[in-house]
Amino acid sequence: MEKSYVAEPYKIKVVEPIAVTTRAEREKFMAEAGYNTFLLRSDQCYIDLLTDSGTSAMSDNQWAGMMMGDEAYAGSRNFLHLQDVVREYYGFKHIVPTHQGRGAENLLSSICIKPGDYVPGNMYFTTTRAHQERNGGKFVDIIIDDAHDSQKDVAFKGDVDLKKLQKLIDEVGADKIPYVCLAVTVNLAGGQPVSMGNMRAVHELCSKHKIKVMFDATRCVENAYFIKIREKGYENRTIREILKEMMSYADGCTMSGKKDCLVNIGGFLCMNDDDLYQRATELVVLYEGMPSYGGLAGRDMEAMARGIVESVDYNYIHHRVSQCVYLADKLTSAGVPVVKPTGGHAVFLDARAFLDHIPQDQFPAQALAAELYIESGVRSMERGIVSAGRNKETGENYHPKLELVRLTIPRRVYTYSHLDVVANACIEMFRHRREIKGLEMVYEPKLLRFFTARFKPLA
Ligand SMILES: *Cc1c(COP(=O)(O)O)cnc(C)c1O
Repeated sequence: MEKSYVAEPYKIKVVEPIAVTTRAEREKFMAEAGYNTFLLRSDQCYIDLLTDSGTSAMSDNQWAGMMMGDEAYAGSRNFLHLQDVVREYYGFKHIVPTHQGRGAENLLSSICIKPGDYVPGNMYFTTTRAHQERNGGKFVDIIIDDAHDSQKDVAFKGDVDLKKLQKLIDEVGADKIPYVCLAVTVNLAGGQPVSMGNMRAVHELCSKHKIKVMFDATRCVENAYFIKIREKGYENRTIREILKEMMSYADGCTMSGKKDCLVNIGGFLCMNDDDLYQRATELVVLYEGMPSYGGLAGRDMEAMARGIVESVDYNYIHHRVSQCVYLADKLTSAGVPVVKPTGGHAVFLDARAFLDHIPQDQFPAQALAAELYIESGVRSMERGIVSAGRNKETGENYHPKLELVRLTIPRRVYTYSHLDVVANACIEMFRHRREIKGLEMVYEPKLLRFFTARFKPLA
């Protein structure tokens, strides 16, 4: 019997037409965009898998909530609702809303990091590390070695290597480590989860040394789902219970609501510590707004509060991850190299294996993302040497082991038929992969270069 995938646990009430283009048009659009998929216009894309950030479809219940926005400057009832929901589902004492995840990262990094500090994390994330470095911190990767191997099929590839963390503490001293940043799941490793056992162990080790643990909770619901299906003892626990237990091993979190809170904009910073909260409220007024709205409209906070409740529904999250598995299974069975195991928000093409004739300094993942767009109108994203950027001290390019193209699945947006189009395009490209050429970077911005860098094809 053929493997089956769970069908959509929702029906369609509103539709949005998408662009159907010709190959000749796409060749022109891609050249105009400097071979950077970030610089394409949305109406030039047929299936947009650039990101799952802010691209979710909201439910009728969330849209109804939008009409209940209390747009008072201070003390909006929607903030109070959001605060209640976050306390109930995440379990933290304080919440500071921010316009999106990086707003929370800015507050946390500015308050906690001093020049010369070290911030260990389970693999870096672009904006997270940029904020740590801007405040004089040095990111140290403490993820298990397996995470850097795209073909190693392990259940919890996002886990921290406790020996690496212990070694750092021994070398620099606990007072040079303001907090450990633990991402659940790990975006740049391919959406890989952290086990509950590992979270507990990191928390224990850090408590012993009085180091805080701050989660990057951006995809915490996806992480909870993987714990339910992969970790012994959790198969009969609800997603909601698992999420709450996860958060009990953290002192706070940053959150990009644009991912697992099912909204188009929003984020927040959480913490249990009263003093830290006090300092966050002092800083948030400078960058975002009053501590009771932090850059968001009342209606945005209402949609996020309702999204948090919907996100822990098993049927929702089971279907979401099943879509990723479906796409990955199709690609794998045709021999297309993808990161294993499949993560929670995306399927990652292994560009290093796919285009093994293109050296990393010729940006194979960037070239593959450009080719996929030309082939099919599917927009994806580079997650390799371009995203990794340069070392601030030496000016050298980082050379990450993982050179990937991310096919990110927005939540509740596309059907399995759309995923068939994506799979077929990748399979077709794999057949003529030898014809794909590397790129040369012709414009390089100083910060977060992947967003706006421009390229041209090598002759
Ligand atoms: C998106 C993301 C962020 C930043 O959040 P924004 O809402 O885009 O500012 C931080 N960490 C991870 C893992 C993310 O995926």
